[in-house]
Amino acid sequence: MAVIVVGGGIVGLCCAHHLAQRGRKVVVVDRGGAEAPPGASFGNAGGIAVTECVPASVPGLWRRVPGWLLDPLGPLHLRPAQLPRLAPWLAAFLRAGRPERVRAIADALSALNSQVFAELEPLLVELGLAGQLHRVGALVLYRDEAARAADALEWEMKRARGVRAEPVGRAEIAELEPAVGPAMTCGVFQPDWAHVDEPGAIVRALRARLAERGVAFETGEASAVTRAEGRATGVELAGGRRLQGEAVVIAAGAWSARLAGDPVRLESERGYNTTLPDPGVEVGRELIFGAEKFVATPLALGLRIGGGAEFAGLEAPANLRRAEALLTLATRALPGLRTDGGRAWMGHRPATPDSLPVIGSSPSTPGLFHAFGHGHLGLTQAAPTGRLIADLVTGAPPPFDPAPFSIARFGRSAR
Ligand SMILES: Cc1cc2nc3c(=O)[nH]c(=O)nc-3n(C[C@H](O)[C@H](O)[C@H](O)COP(=O)(O)OP(=O)(O)OC[C@H]3O[C@@H](n4cnc5c(N)ncnc54)[C@H](O)[C@@H]3O)c2cc1C
Repeated sequence: MAVIVVGGGIVGLCCAHHLAQRGRKVVVVDRGGAEAPPGASFGNAGGIAVTECVPASVPGLWRRVPGWLLDPLGPLHLRPAQLPRLAPWLAAFLRAGRPERVRAIADALSALNSQVFAELEPLLVELGLAGQLHRVGALVLYRDEAARAADALEWEMKRARGVRAEPVGRAEIAELEPAVGPAMTCGVFQPDWAHVDEPGAIVRALRARLAERGVAFETGEASAVTRAEGRATGVELAGGRRLQGEAVVIAAGAWSARLAGDPVRLESERGYNTTLPDPGVEVGRELIFGAEKFVATPLALGLRIGGGAEFAGLEAPANLRRAEALLTLATRALPGLRTDGGRAWMGHRPATPDSLPVIGSSPSTPGLFHAFGHGHLGLTQAAPTGRLIADLVTGAPPPFDPAPFSIARFGRSAR
């Protein structure tokens, strides 16, 4: 019998890849077919953000939130109608920002991120896409010293975990990235960061490679996990058809909570970007605007500018004005930027309140596994997640302690 993976985004496909490598029969179920990808994995910023080990919720963050919410170009947007529904997630988010919890989360994210290149590089070689990975670092930019100082805790926590973070001034910025204008006066260079040429191309190539290797793809909406004597036995698709399996992996991105089978807090953190095919500026590496919280990545398709965090659920239509707002900010930082001809996009980041993905076996249902909730880091962490899931499904020893990622951490409070 096969292992059934629900979700054909980058995380589900990496799980399928590692399971197939271990000789398991695999079926991937996705509601969109190969040509109709609805998930976050296709349009993201392409950053391999291995240095990002500090969670979104940190001590003192609440002091910055009102300013962000009031700024029409700000990085955070909450639709007021969503507040009652969001309240438990927001409460859990604030709880995750306690100092001792933040340290434990950062340690767990570091352990996962330390496995990224070891898993991603061979995968890209197998796909014939090794040349699409650029290990050229990323440059974090600030308007002034006060803005850089506001992130001091983040830099301190990263350095304490071995992340290389080199402060730079105006002269080094001009040398590293001449397209950055004088509005950005200081920054931090992170040599360990990388980016890819096009995240969607990796998803498409991986899907094609898996199909060649005998992984089956089913188009359909998984509506429930089926069980017998308490054990997962497969999934039921909308319309009633059932797929039988020896195990089920839920990797359905921001849509995973309904199928998880255990209490969890998961929200869609919507992000926006615009890809400019002819940006008129040369950018050599990913640029990260530290205070404004958006990035510009030089992809093969053009310069992709985006970010932001909008909490508006899975159903509300995209508000592409959020993408335009980020372009406005980008033109202030990159004076020669041409914004015509851009393609705007919105994607649902699967966000947990503690910024840790949910990876592990279900505490309540043998045979059910979780691989979702990667938030801002799903492209980065997909390959080691796939490896960990294959270890857990096959009973092999994992390369690091998976306990911090277990869904059990949500406990009864998330029912
Ligand atoms: C603007 C933006 C920029 C980002 N930039 C980066 C970045 O630079 N680096 C990085 O590492 N990450 C980045 N991310 C995050 C990253 O894109 C996500 O974390 C990642 O794509 C999540 O992958 P996934 O496979 O879990 O989910 P998805 O890609 O969303 O895939 C989930 C799949 O599950 C399917 N599905 C859902 N429910 C069902 C169901 N019931 N039945 C069948 N199929 C179902 C969906 O159709 C979808 O194809 C960014 C995200 C956004 C929005």
